[in-house]
Amino acid sequence: MDLTLSAENLKVYYFSEFGTIRAVDDVSFGIGKNESVGIVGESGCGKSTLGTALLRSVPYPGKIVSGQIILNGKNISKMSDDEFDKKVRWKKISMIFQGALNCLDPVFTIGSQMKEILQQHGYSNDYSEIIEESLSNVLLEPSIVKKYPHELSGGMKQRVSIAMSLLLKPKILVADEPTTSLDVMVQSQIINLLKKLKKDRDMSIIFISHDLGVISEVSETIAVMYRGQVVEMGKAYQIYKNPKHPYTEKLVSSIPSMKNKHSKLEILTEKTTDPTRKESGCKFYDSCPYAKEKCLNDPPVIKYRDGFVRCWLYE
Ligand code: SF4
Repeated sequence: MDLTLSAENLKVYYFSEFGTIRAVDDVSFGIGKNESVGIVGESGCGKSTLGTALLRSVPYPGKIVSGQIILNGKNISKMSDDEFDKKVRWKKISMIFQGALNCLDPVFTIGSQMKEILQQHGYSNDYSEIIEESLSNVLLEPSIVKKYPHELSGGMKQRVSIAMSLLLKPKILVADEPTTSLDVMVQSQIINLLKKLKKDRDMSIIFISHDLGVISEVSETIAVMYRGQVVEMGKAYQIYKNPKHPYTEKLVSSIPSMKNKHSKLEILTEKTTDPTRKESGCKFYDSCPYAKEKCLNDPPVIKYRDGFVRCWLYE
């Protein structure tokens, strides 16, 4: 499949007074046209940093230190900030940020916040038509433009943040934990809405979540991240039925099962490690039941038909 967006050997580090945190450490992956890719992993594994890196919006003191981001064959990591702002950010790739419920400014109406986005991107009139269309896409009434964020429910605020991210009709959407802090019913509505938008607008969506259940509902392909690296990527059914990487195996077996109610859930027994420590070899070494001496060297990336795994077991 031709990839619409890909990251190649991407490294994103945070430079703090305590040391360097390698949040994204040599990640390569891609997404095709109208595809949905889920990025899953525990908190702090680097998945949100990877999402912001795709939009070149890594928060300070983070920085993309090496690697490339390719959009439709063009290396957008080499573009000037000005060119990236004008041509790519929000127009071609957009993002629903984590904690979107708190992203709305409490002192401005929804309409004025949406208008500001259009003004920032050079629109000078016809605001209301574009805003109304964007709101109707997320099943909100146009009258909502007069409301302030505190007048909306959690689900409505999340719909507004989705409408904002789709204002300039991007073809790629990065959705970072779009259902976090919503109740289960609203979660399901938002997931169905994103699926519908993907289909109707022919979009590609990168879903980021720590919740394997949510990821499984929305993603055709899944990338599993562990300590800054994608350790396995493959079709969703393969990841569930036949996980290859030992970390993925543990992750899948940590999901409670309705069929086997009395079985024990898997837990990882690893110690908390200093994130600034530079590790060599496999990052899962301390917790891996199959670890061998050669795992103290960096594991190879083994490709197979629909994905890859980063592990010595498949050499
Ligand atoms: Fe386990 Fe070795 Fe594979 Fe790492 S490389 S996951 S330690 S078998």
